[in-house]
Amino acid sequence: MTDCTTVGRQIWDYLDHEMTAERREVINAHIRACRDCFSLVRFDAAFLQRVRAVKDTPLFVDDLRQRLAAAMREQGVAPPDTLPTTTAESP
Ligand SMILES: [Zn+2]
Repeated sequence: MTDCTTVGRQIWDYLDHEMTAERREVINAHIRACRDCFSLVRFDAAFLQRVRAVKDTPLFVDDLRQRLAAAMREQGVAPPDTLPTTTAESP
């Protein structure tokens, strides 16, 4: 019998479809019966969806790169010229 702790531990594998069909079915059965885990799965699925939607946008990476460079300058560290960029550089 799957309990809430097991579901919580495996939730990301579940959402990433990185488990066997049998395992999914066991967790599905628990989620159908358990309101807490149902909410958890729904929340995490929505979270994952948002992260996926955002992380592939160049804007997100460029913004992160700029903030990283700014933070390094603040610390008196010269940011390297080779921070990863999202645009392919011409040779
Ligand atoms: Zn549960």
